[in-house]
Amino acid sequence: MSDLDTQARQAIVNFKKVLNRQERLARVMARKSDLRLLPNSRGSYTDGKNIHIQVPYSLFKGTPHADRSVCRKRDDDNILLCEACRVVEEVEAYVFHEVSHICFGTFQKVSNSDLKSYLDEVLKCFGDKERENFKSVVHKVKLDIPAKEYKSYYVTTASVSPVHQLLANLNEDVRVNAEMRKERPGSVVPLEAMYNFLIKNGVPRGKETIPYKDLPHDSQMVIGMVARMSGYSYEPFLAEEVCQVLEDEDLNKVFDQIIKANSSRDTGFHAFSLKVELNRLGMFLD
Ligand SMILES: [Zn+2]
Ligand SMILES: [Zn+2]
Repeated sequence: MSDLDTQARQAIVNFKKVLNRQERLARVMARKSDLRLLPNSRGSYTDGKNIHIQVPYSLFKGTPHADRSVCRKRDDDNILLCEACRVVEEVEAYVFHEVSHICFGTFQKVSNSDLKSYLDEVLKCFGDKERENFKSVVHKVKLDIPAKEYKSYYVTTASVSPVHQLLANLNEDVRVNAEMRKERPGSVVPLEAMYNFLIKNGVPRGKETIPYKDLPHDSQMVIGMVARMSGYSYEPFLAEEVCQVLEDEDLNKVFDQIIKANSSRDTGFHAFSLKVELNRLGMFLD
């Protein structure tokens, strides 16, 4: 067996140990004794029943805990200096985040009667032009009632367009993370370190990592909005034009509403006004 094979096998064994430990914690936090943590290669997410965890790319790099003197030490952005320790904490942060979707109402069901008033309220928050454009889409959503795929506010909002899906998800992420930070203070540092690592290092693509500054402005805005609404830093890592948009006064009024949201109904609703503001600023145009 080559060195690489041995390393890969060891990495998988280690990852399974981490997952088993985290699974026990996740079951306690989510109060779900049958919750499972499953390794995934295409990001972390939950369907409300199980949690799929991205296998960290860096798991296959370097020697575990190469320098024990830096284990548990952090840089100025709260990121652990030891790569092996950081990866374990990253898994922990994914778990905190996905559990928060289960615990804090992302899967809250929408009743057929409220679905109608929800969409009517959404329509009211547009100007004449947007209202006409959206009427047809919303009409389609209403027609499909009680199609079983429109079972939560999130799914209802997401079904309007891919941009609405992205924004509803982003708003929910901000809301549920804030709830988790309040309920479990032990999640504060791992969640911040996870976002800081991502924004500082960029997005892995094949063997390379693309810095956020080199990505399309819409992609930079996604992490920029999460960082701004969560109180994390973003300025050194995003393009100047994107940072300027993030300062826009009317956009920040919507951010304030999202920060105050206390249900998936609220964050779904704010996805519509957020898209209107972003379009006005020339972003997320379909
Ligand atoms: Zn370490
Ligand atoms: Zn999420």
